Amino acid sequence: MGTLDEKLHSLRAGEISAEQNIQNFLDKIENEKYNAILYVNSEALEEARNVDRKIKQGRAGKLSGLAIAVKSNINVKGLKTSCASKTLENYSATYDATVIERIRREDGIVIGMANMDEFACGSSGETSYFGPILNPAARGRIPGGSSSGSAASIAGGLSDLAIGSDTGGSIRNPASHCGIIGIKPTYGLVPRQGLIDLAMSFDQIGTLGRDVYSTALLLEVIAGYSKREAVSRKVENLDYTSKLTPDLEGYKIGYVTEFEELTDRRINSEIKKSLEKLEMQGAELVEVNLPNLNKALPTYYLTTFVEFFSATRKYDGRRYGYKIEDVCGEEILRRIHIGSYISQKEYSGKYYRKALQFRSLITRELLEALRDIDLIAGPTTPKLPHRLGEKISPLDMYSYDVLTVQAKQVKSEISLLEYSFRQNLLKNRRFSM
Ligand code: GLN
Repeated sequence: MGTLDEKLHSLRAGEISAEQNIQNFLDKIENEKYNAILYVNSEALEEARNVDRKIKQGRAGKLSGLAIAVKSNINVKGLKTSCASKTLENYSATYDATVIERIRREDGIVIGMANMDEFACGSSGETSYFGPILNPAARGRIPGGSSSGSAASIAGGLSDLAIGSDTGGSIRNPASHCGIIGIKPTYGLVPRQGLIDLAMSFDQIGTLGRDVYSTALLLEVIAGYSKREAVSRKVENLDYTSKLTPDLEGYKIGYVTEFEELTDRRINSEIKKSLEKLEMQGAELVEVNLPNLNKALPTYYLTTFVEFFSATRKYDGRRYGYKIEDVCGEEILRRIHIGSYISQKEYSGKYYRKALQFRSLITRELLEALRDIDLIAGPTTPKLPHRLGEKISPLDMYSYDVLTVQAKQVKSEISLLEYSFRQNLLKNRRFSM
């Protein structure tokens, strides 16, 4: 399999048509065994033929007929945006999310809607109302979550690229488990309009792909200021692809001792090898301490439970057909109940306000650590994926997120460095930022 860069060249040179590209994926999706794609875009071929016309006229955009799988919590006009929940099983989006408008503008083609953990709550891809997603890269193991279908569609060859959402790890975690690339962009870099909330102060739409170049290219397409939203950032330079370089001379890369203490030794030994490679490429390794890391998980869960509870109040049975509590899975119900409990006035000081204080503390600590280094390198999850269907406790499930939940608002330039860094790790495909 060539790189996506090569495929783009072939598409532009007319060696393959966008229509053939899309037809190939539609055939594969029809027989797929991963339960990765829930709905197919019935207009994809027609859209591809339009792109072919533009290619012939030399005016096709950056994505020139590439197939994009979209997580089922991002609105695509006319397609079922169910959040993999019975609650929204009959909801078809009435508009395109801003990121979808941008993908279409650059001639990317939405191939279908990807399966996911229900309402993006989960780390294993097992909580979808439509059944679990399988891991194409590790048979019998969970694919990670919650953007499980997006990751599996890349690893299983069902689309060129995918988009997902990441609140506390939901892109990075499945990318890591499926051996592909995934990125959670800095908060505010990518417009969130059209994304169905899990927790609005954490959620970001991001990209998944099988190589660094294409994952960065898709980010380049969807990133950038949008006047529709208050938290959108004005970032001047959105060119992520021309800066990819294997040269790490002058880079200071931090590794976190607390990460190592929390992580399975088999993963640690892979990380160690990768760090040594980075050093060989010219980077300077710097030890970093994050002593408040142990507060990250409870802070994340308390805050997101409250935000999720509030986000779900609109599913009251009058607008979307079902009342969420009547039809949702166990994990969703748990979050609604805990969120409702800790939102009560008499408890808010005890839990929610304290969590917000810890959140600022963790952010400060991370920004402080990043002041003297270019980036932090480390494992994505502390343990290897468990067997599909194996019963694990909610707390064990939450602990998959201990290394990813603290990603917060850091300066957007970090993203560029992450990509450069990523390219060096391509050979070690288990590694994902
Ligand atoms: N596993 C985390 C959770 O269940 C992350 C979810 C996400 O990033 N959407 O909350």
